[in-house]
Amino acid sequence: MQIPHDTRNALETVVSLVNTIPEAHGSDGLPDVEALYGFAQAHRMSGVGDLGPRDLRAVQAVRTRFAEVFAAPGPREASELLNDLVAAAGTTPQLTDHDGYDWHVHYFAPDASMADHLAADCGMALAFIVVAGEQERLRRCEAPDCGHAFVDLSRNRSRRYCDSRTCGNRLHVAAYRARRKEAAG
Ligand SMILES: [Zn+2]
Ligand SMILES: [Zn+2]
Repeated sequence: MQIPHDTRNALETVVSLVNTIPEAHGSDGLPDVEALYGFAQAHRMSGVGDLGPRDLRAVQAVRTRFAEVFAAPGPREASELLNDLVAAAGTTPQLTDHDGYDWHVHYFAPDASMADHLAADCGMALAFIVVAGEQERLRRCEAPDCGHAFVDLSRNRSRRYCDSRTCGNRLHVAAYRARRKEAAG
């Protein structure tokens, strides 16, 4: 599956946004405005100006909606959620080559809030996945007590864990110990 670079970036952004939700993480990954600035910087979001408590609440609301997209049972449910998200954000598709990047489309309006920026651009990136018939690649990690959102970009859509080195391994070790115990008993 060919995914343009900016779409891939937006997918990474939305995955880490959803994974800041306390229930998936233990503690809130976006507890205050400072963390919001950190998030915008880490994901190189352009055009993010001054942020305040209103932005924090709005971004937290948007991430809840995105979590629902990752939990959607099928493309119809995912599409309805995405349509609502993108419509509420308002979009102004615009070709840009800012900061030395190749030509790509920004969907957020030039004066968009951070929440609207995320809803528009990440919403359109997820829409791209649904349109490609790949909604089932939007997954939740199967390791118990993890449940992180991730996008399975593997060739054969076989990924079950958010990170095979931690979550996948953890399960393998647990299964190995269980087998050993059974053999010993
Ligand atoms: Zn850009
Ligand atoms: Zn995991």
